[in-house]
Amino acid sequence: MKKIITLILLLTAVINAQLLSPIEKSNYTKLTSYNELFDFAYQTTLVNSNIELSPIAVSTNGYIIPALFISNDKFGEDKKKVRVMVFAQQHGNEQSGKEGMLLLLKEIALGKHNRFFDRIDLILIPQVNPEGSETNIRRNGVGADLNRNHLILTMPETIGLHRVFNKYLPEVTLDIHEYYPYSEEWEKLGYRKNYDEQIGIITNINVSQKIRDEQRNNFLPYIFTYMRTTGFTANEYLLGGPPGIERMRYSTVDIDDGRQSLGILNSFSLIFEGLNGIDSLSNMKQRANGQKTAVVGLLQYVYENASSIKSLVAEEREVLINGEENKCAIQMEHYSTKDSKDVTFYSIKTRKDTVISVPEFHDKVKPVLEINSPAGYLIPKNDSKLYEWMRRHNIEYISADSARINKAKISYYEIKGPIKKILEESEITLPELEEKSITNISLTNYYFLPINQLHNKMLPLALEPQSQLGLSNYQEFNYLKKGNEFSILRVNN
Ligand SMILES: [Zn+2]
Repeated sequence: MKKIITLILLLTAVINAQLLSPIEKSNYTKLTSYNELFDFAYQTTLVNSNIELSPIAVSTNGYIIPALFISNDKFGEDKKKVRVMVFAQQHGNEQSGKEGMLLLLKEIALGKHNRFFDRIDLILIPQVNPEGSETNIRRNGVGADLNRNHLILTMPETIGLHRVFNKYLPEVTLDIHEYYPYSEEWEKLGYRKNYDEQIGIITNINVSQKIRDEQRNNFLPYIFTYMRTTGFTANEYLLGGPPGIERMRYSTVDIDDGRQSLGILNSFSLIFEGLNGIDSLSNMKQRANGQKTAVVGLLQYVYENASSIKSLVAEEREVLINGEENKCAIQMEHYSTKDSKDVTFYSIKTRKDTVISVPEFHDKVKPVLEINSPAGYLIPKNDSKLYEWMRRHNIEYISADSARINKAKISYYEIKGPIKKILEESEITLPELEEKSITNISLTNYYFLPINQLHNKMLPLALEPQSQLGLSNYQEFNYLKKGNEFSILRVNN
């Protein structure tokens, strides 16, 4: 018996010693290919029975996209656990997210992070865009930018991601990217961003203020300290610049990306951006380990605050479902609350971190146009595109003739001429509208989408014709605003 145990221990030690992620095997000299990734992910399930591999989608050119479901129980069964979903490499040329997540997967397989799984069920998707990765390009196999596809949901990769989200409704979600700070304009200025990790929190003001406060006041300081004490640098996600040439702000308010499309459902949602190399492989050991460490920091934070995060998200999702707030900002803009903000940059000349005063740093978001949310929307049953769209988002709906709708409350938008607006530096053409009541309508021809659901804030943002983030701004859906009448109707309160 003793001999057998010794033998098993010995064998386990041999297997563990051999369990290296593909990039470790090459000593960081070769990026992990799709086949290597898949084989390695499968191998971890043999080493650790808490890891289960399950495909979430088949990409446009036929790659099976694996997700690892990690639980020390039956995944999703223990209602007290926080569900966390982490996904990397939507952009194929941002390789360190994938490599970092494979390093993390190895450590999980070897039991290094066992304690997390007393309170966490984790979905880990190391690579959302295999085609882009294989050829080291941003977009997917049919040229779509996956991280601009989360509202219209027309790509198999993003559809699959949202299917998993909708099935398990993770409280915490994280989208992993890289940023490229080596542009000519910054070079000319003599400074650049040089943080191992940029940490982006929710910026869309329709997302629960409590969740946004928790992220800003508690999570950000925590992760900055965690990164510093583990030997990495981090800063809040900065967009724009260089200072004095282009305004700088915290990220975007859009809901078509991996962070905010889930955030708008009152998830504790984040984006991490690791520092890109001069090329895809350079400095990879530091980059991949930076990404891994940031995710371990997040898991540690969730572990330490599991019950409060769990109840915060549950309560804030109830607010959406019960329709306790009936306003929605459908146009918004970053603005600055101070004359300047001190930001640390890397001086290309002195090779040292230097604090620079950035004039007019746009640190806050304000509403530009706010509406009263209706009781719900009516969409024509014969619009198969809209039908597919709401199914993919798991939006609740019923046939309008079986909903209790007061016909006198139904209105439509008459479309007047287009108006041009500048929002978040971009010129956008939106229709001028006049809301009118409908006198004659056959409800059997419509689906009713009640506002009182998880998609409470997402529906007006997607369906209002004057929404800066709306569906009708996309080529795929711009038929909605052609003609004199907007084809989506409102049922007012
Ligand atoms: Zn990216």
